[in-house]
Amino acid sequence: MNKQKQTTKNTGELVDRFSRTISYLRLSLTDRCNLRCIYCMPVDREGGLQVLKHEDLLSYEELLRIVKLAVDMGMNKLRLTGGEPLVRRGVMDFITALSQIEGLDEIRLTTNGVLLHEKAAGLYDAGIRKLNISLDTLRPERFKEITGMDLFDQVWQGIETAAELGFNIKLNVVAMKGVNDDEFVDFARLAVEKAYQVRFIEFMPLGKNSTWDKSSYMTSDELKEWIGTVGTLEPLPGRRMDGPARVYSLTTAGGLKGQVGFISPISHHFCDTCNRLRLTSAGKLRACLLHDREADLKTLLREGGTDDEIRGLIRQTILDKPKGHTLAEEQAGCVGQMSRIGG
Ligand code: SAM
Ligand code: SF4
Repeated sequence: MNKQKQTTKNTGELVDRFSRTISYLRLSLTDRCNLRCIYCMPVDREGGLQVLKHEDLLSYEELLRIVKLAVDMGMNKLRLTGGEPLVRRGVMDFITALSQIEGLDEIRLTTNGVLLHEKAAGLYDAGIRKLNISLDTLRPERFKEITGMDLFDQVWQGIETAAELGFNIKLNVVAMKGVNDDEFVDFARLAVEKAYQVRFIEFMPLGKNSTWDKSSYMTSDELKEWIGTVGTLEPLPGRRMDGPARVYSLTTAGGLKGQVGFISPISHHFCDTCNRLRLTSAGKLRACLLHDREADLKTLLREGGTDDEIRGLIRQTILDKPKGHTLAEEQAGCVGQMSRIGG
């Protein structure tokens, strides 16, 4: 990674019809996962899990080619996600190869933390410094209920290992009424006790087997009221590079300070400033998490598409990026699977 540059090349190719510059690519490396979170992994009627065959995933060579072209067009930030990105075989070598790409300023990773205790040091060596770790509960029993696996202690150990290595850590908490709402205050306290930014995400209706319903959804404004019982919340200015989160400092009566963020895709959507393009694990370019329109990059690649044609499809997908989503009005959600799109 070229850490000196930290700039987006302005080739003009990445500006959409609403003047948003698309500089941030999110890659879903796999739709497989070692957890089965109730709100994310789809189970079909026969009880099996619908996952892609290995050959349906883009190979690392294909992914590297796309990333290089995207960086050449001006993208400078990449997030690896999934499914669980760390379960894909060869991922560490892939990250090392990504880190050699000139002009790619930053590679970030979103993980459930299950494999962090063994992979954190390698990730650090490969140049990653920022981790988003998903954790919806601090209670081992409840962790098992939400994720289907009894792995809280392992995840916690992974988080601590990563913190000791010096990673910047953000904890992502999906806020679900009746599931983990009695722990939001504990998470806020954690944010002042440890150097982790805790970000609460509004529960979204995604995937055709989504467990979302209105009664389990709560807005960030409701959440903020709860967190306000722990201390004083003050908005931190100039945090645009933190992505969609509105970030606040939280100061307790005893003077302890931490940071909490609220990601509100439904109640305060951030479409006006969205700078993202997604590549799903099925090899589809997707301009909006919450719009099901996708462009088939994998077929173009495998039918011998030239670099110019690939750049053209990226450009067209950006031009087709919708102005915003309409979830708040429709309350219907989209059918795309979160584990395939990558969040
Ligand atoms: N497996 C990794 C993880 O869990 O961090 C990366 C992929 S996961 C799909 C990315 C993020 O999406 C996680 O923070 C997860 O909590 C969030 N997520 C998944 N389904 C969601 C939903 N229906 N509403 C809100 N957030 C969701
Ligand atoms: Fe796996 Fe992440 Fe989905 Fe949970 S949210 S099932 S950890 S991909």
